[in-house]
Amino acid sequence: MKRQHLLIDADDTLWENNIYFEQAFDRFCELLQHSTLTPAEVRAALDAIEIENNKIHGYGAHNFVRNLRQCFEALVERDPHPTHFEEIASYAHGILQMPIELMPGVAETLPRLAAQHELTVFTKGAHEEQSSKIARSGIGHWFTHCEIVKEKNRDAYHDLVARLRFDPGSTWMIGNSPKSDINPALAAGLRAVYVPHERTWTLEREEIVTSDRLLVAEGFGELARIFLGS
Ligand SMILES: [Mg+2]
Repeated sequence: MKRQHLLIDADDTLWENNIYFEQAFDRFCELLQHSTLTPAEVRAALDAIEIENNKIHGYGAHNFVRNLRQCFEALVERDPHPTHFEEIASYAHGILQMPIELMPGVAETLPRLAAQHELTVFTKGAHEEQSSKIARSGIGHWFTHCEIVKEKNRDAYHDLVARLRFDPGSTWMIGNSPKSDINPALAAGLRAVYVPHERTWTLEREEIVTSDRLLVAEGFGELARIFLGS
């Protein structure tokens, strides 16, 4: 295969991310101690808040905590105490301090991909938070470009390939999110490899469109078979 441009998602593709948000959510439910709502129903209430707030504020641990605080105020059945909000605020710190745990296959496969193809990190979220994770991951040097955007929609993919002068026919988006990685990349005319992660954030899930430009990999290591033939 001739040299391809590989755009690679970061959170839950290169390293674990959503599990730390889920752990914070579990602690939030314990703090809330709602008398009737199940955790799934609390999650639905939080999702509604997140959908609205993400449009204005974007993503990341600090915004997540803001959403949790708003959710707590809406659902709490007793007089809120300042210590409740201090505990919620502490969840951001917990998420931001987590060590970067690479997904299986990443450490071995990334150098091999980089030897034959041009790699770009393409991630959305809070700029400082995402760049800090790339720096702490120890794998940033395998990438020619690191691109952090507010949203990965079709326009963002169009902008990226135009700015970096990539040929869409030899540019692939690789990631775990149907909503941010696969569907918008395909809509922008790129190729894509879907690498599912069983703990993908609910708001990133979406039905994947059918396309002959789409492949599915069972894990990051399978990218070697696709892009290196072994
Ligand atoms: Mg992801």
